[in-house]
Amino acid sequence: MSSSERRWQPSREGFLEELADGVWAYVQPDGSWFLSNAGLIRAGEVVVHVDSAATVRRTHALRAAADALGLPRRRVVIATHHHGDHTNGNATLDPELLVAHRNVPQELAEAILVPPPGVFSPVDWGVVEVRSPDLLVDGWLGLELGGRTLEVAARGLPAHTRGDAVVWLPAAKVLFAGDLCFVGGTPFALGGSVAGWIETLAWLRGFDADVVVPGHGPVATMQALEPVERYLRFVWHVAHEAHEAGVGPLEAARSVDLGEFGDWRDPERIVGNLHRALAELGGGEVDVLAAFGDMIAFNGGRPLTCYA
Ligand SMILES: [Zn+2]
Repeated sequence: MSSSERRWQPSREGFLEELADGVWAYVQPDGSWFLSNAGLIRAGEVVVHVDSAATVRRTHALRAAADALGLPRRRVVIATHHHGDHTNGNATLDPELLVAHRNVPQELAEAILVPPPGVFSPVDWGVVEVRSPDLLVDGWLGLELGGRTLEVAARGLPAHTRGDAVVWLPAAKVLFAGDLCFVGGTPFALGGSVAGWIETLAWLRGFDADVVVPGHGPVATMQALEPVERYLRFVWHVAHEAHEAGVGPLEAARSVDLGEFGDWRDPERIVGNLHRALAELGGGEVDVLAAFGDMIAFNGGRPLTCYA
């Protein structure tokens, strides 16, 4: 095993990658379920965190990494969306200001942030408290903090969730894309929209980024958006055929060849994605618990693998 392969095995802590002066990605291998990336941005007297982590223990590790860099203890957190792997640690980070998309409070109210036992392999989540956002973004927000310009932007369509935002650093040309971008892992649209995500990617291409930090997986460039779009178009195509044939999401997923996407992490997400796409085509609602049940069935009846 090479050192880069070893570095990309599931690990108990993330590692820092410096992207520009005072800008870091905190990357948690292997990027599978609940192993999300975060960002750290020095901004004068405060540190801006992009997202937190899934468990209290992992959030302590993230905070220790920020402290080891000598970053300020005064924190602003920008949440890219409400999912637990990106927000469960927000109360532990205890920010002076928490910024999120305008739909995040409702998403938080409806979400199951800590999954019930049996869905994933066992995880020590710690005591997770919901921290509500203080400032909501509808479209675009420019922030001038400590001599640094940050922008929080949202396309406004359901995509990965109903409340996705990205963080853009125009001077450094760094884009924190949240879960609108996955690298080496299967994108997950169950709580959003396959069609809306494809449209959101077209908007995302408007950013002139040199560096893209995905929500999961290694730091990348704008090229990383291409396989995400190919996958979503593949899901949309499979869903159309299943819709016309009257086939359900699990059956459709079992009969399809994932092709170039087959060795991505968390392939069972094809089932959840087809639940969402078929609901979009049929005009119905998604039953999230049924979708996870079908994903477990697709996974051979075993809980989904989670290293958080
Ligand atoms: Zn997510």
